[in-house]
Amino acid sequence: MTQSHTPRHTAFGHVTLAGAGPGAVAHLTLAVARALESADIVLHDKLVSEEVLALAGPQATLIETGKAGFGPAMAQEEISALIVAFAREGRNVLRLKSGDPGVFGRLGEELDALDAAGIAFTVLPGLTAASAAAASLGQSLTERGRNRELRLVTGHGAEGFAEADWAGLARPGAVAAIYMGKRAARFIQGRLMMHGASLSTPVTLVENASRTEERVLSGTLADLPALAARLDGPAVILWGLAPRAAAAAQPIEVAQ
Ligand code: SAH
Repeated sequence: MTQSHTPRHTAFGHVTLAGAGPGAVAHLTLAVARALESADIVLHDKLVSEEVLALAGPQATLIETGKAGFGPAMAQEEISALIVAFAREGRNVLRLKSGDPGVFGRLGEELDALDAAGIAFTVLPGLTAASAAAASLGQSLTERGRNRELRLVTGHGAEGFAEADWAGLARPGAVAAIYMGKRAARFIQGRLMMHGASLSTPVTLVENASRTEERVLSGTLADLPALAARLDGPAVILWGLAPRAAAAAQPIEVAQ
């Protein structure tokens, strides 16, 4: 069951904040597909695919809030204010984010704005990019005897390249999914090497996971910047994972 949150002093309106998954319509949950059908206003991120947006009903107004990579985007406060304003008009508002809304989706800030405005909301989860990417490799994100934890890391924070627990990530067997890591690839490589990670640790980049243009670039820590330079779409870096079929440590491209 989905949990709805109704504030004590309920104002008018209700907002659904949902995850659209990594792109393929097949990875959308039924709950989100239904929310799309019935929404009047769909405020969506740039990374939400056309294929998914096509499921919106004829009554829906679609508003893109940005942002792809480092392009211009609406300020977060602006987005939150829009969500609140539409909800107050009594519109059926769907805030749609790529992947899972609670993974690097600034969900908390929008929920805070709704709480402050006294507007009820429902959060619908989505399939995060790391799950789709690992599935494409035929790999498990956690594995007995290899990694008991999985880290979801961002390569980029509000102040540029993001720091992480590099010592933890450098430990043999560590697995992490690094989001927004394309531009930070050389920085990440340097930090991991500084903390003793082996240059032969497998690294796999999955670009456009689940979409028809999906690409899998596989290599080792030594290749990370060169592999990242070949990307042009959204990609997740799977640190510590190689495609199940990859026998060699040489960079390979797996045709999809
Ligand atoms: N909430 C999203 C993440 C948003 S941050 C989720 O749960 O997946 C944006 C980053 O997500 C991108 O820079 C990229 O690292 C990753 N990403 C989103 N969609 C992707 C896809 N289809 N394939 C690979 N990576 C993706």
